[in-house]
Formats: sequence, structure tokens, C-alpha cells
Amino acid sequence: MRRPIVAGNWKMHGTRSENARLIEEISSRYPADPVAQCIVCPPYVYLQEVGRLLRDSALLLGAQDVSADPQGAFTGEVSATMLKDIGCRYVIVGHSERRLLCRESDQLVARKFAAAHAKGLVPIFCVGEQLADRETGRTREVVARQVDAVLELSGAQALASAVIAYEPVWAIGTGRNATPEQAQEVHAFIRARIAAQDATIAEVTRILYGGSVKASNAAELFAMPDVDGGLIGGASLKADEFLAILAASGSR
Ligand code: PEP
Repeated sequence: MRRPIVAGNWKMHGTRSENARLIEEISSRYPADPVAQCIVCPPYVYLQEVGRLLRDSALLLGAQDVSADPQGAFTGEVSATMLKDIGCRYVIVGHSERRLLCRESDQLVARKFAAAHAKGLVPIFCVGEQLADRETGRTREVVARQVDAVLELSGAQALASAVIAYEPVWAIGTGRNATPEQAQEVHAFIRARIAAQDATIAEVTRILYGGSVKASNAAELFAMPDVDGGLIGGASLKADEFLAILAASGSR
């Protein structure tokens, strides 16, 4: 049985006071025994402070990115060791905004995955097709290429302690989510791709859906057999929405 995950990607939002308010609102109404594991991923500069705010709560801390290199002359970069050092447990790698805006290749994302995994961080490894890919029937090809880059560098075993997030780019921040059936189809495809290398690992790997998840659509998405929770952008900045999405993680 795969325990669902609901992870909030705050992206480049928030201030110290807004973060404190959001964490207070979420923790004060946090369910005693939630079905899902809950993670928040603030911007780098706030990680330590948010980590302190989360200290007595069941919420876990994640970062939004990590360097592919362990240390050295990489101005502006943050290593997996540093993230571990300040209490991060999870890190998003390969978010489509980084793939597209920062031109991160499949190979770089795979190196980031490996760097995080090597230091005991749990990578939340994002994959997903652009609208043009979907419209030209290339969704599986694109997602397979992204997944294979990690499988080739780290092997299927590394996915046992990782999380995959299927995030169709056309659904991110657009208000237009994939239908539950569209999500299920790609999630099952990803699981089968891993199973081709190791069926046992494919069964335990959590695959989250991301892309315009909100309180009103979370339950139907999370009810799909291969959808193990969600990676939430915009709605993770609103305590009511985020808590309702967390509550929906018991839908399967
Ligand atoms: C995301 O950025 O990972 C995301 C899923 O964003 P949104 O929920 O806002 O579509």
C-alpha cells in the first residue's frame, strides 16, 4: 500500500510574515491522523526558518531545486549536503519551469536526482509533456525519455526511495487540470516503464499528479488507482485549499 503524499510547491512566493501565517493556519487545523504525508517546499532563503516553524508539526520540509554537483565553484547553487544539513527531507527536481525557463536537460535533471539521492534526500522528480506534445500524440515518448534518463543514470532501485510527479506543462498554473482519466493513463504508463526494469519497485514508487489541483478536483484525481497524491502549486498558498486537498487524499 502506497501512502499518498500532498506536497506544496510555493515557487517564488511568500515573505517571512506570510510564511509564518500560512504555516500557523495549516498547523492549527492539521488533521490528527492524515492519510497523506504532507510536505511544503518554500524558496531556499526561507527553508531554515520554515523548518523551525514546522518543528513540532507532522509537516516535512522540501526544497524546490538542488545542484547536480556536490560542492565547489558554482556561484548561486545549493548542494544536497547543504539541504540535508538544514533539515530538508525532500527536493523537487526537474520542475517544468526549470526545464523550460532555465533550460535544464533530461540529463541535468537526472544528475540532480542522483545528487539528491546520494545524500539521502528524497527527490520529487517531475516529468510531463507540453501542450504541443500532447496534441501531436507524443506524450508517452516525452515522458518515457524523461523517466529513462533517471533510470539509466541511477537505476530502478533509486526510485524505491523517490517520488515521481507527473505534471503536464499545459496544466500547470493554467486552471486546466488533466482529467482523472488522462492522469491515470500517464501514471500507469510511468509505472509500467519502471516495472519493465523492476516490478517490485514499480509497485512501491509514489507517483503524484500536479497541474491545477484544487479542493474542487483533488478527490476525483486522487481516486485513480495509480495517482498517489499531488504536487500542488497555487493552491498550496491558501490554507483552506491546501487542507481540503490534504483531506481529499483519503479518496482512494
Ligand atoms: C506546480 O507548479 O508544480 C503546480 C502543479 O502548479 P499549479 O498547482 O499552480 O498548477
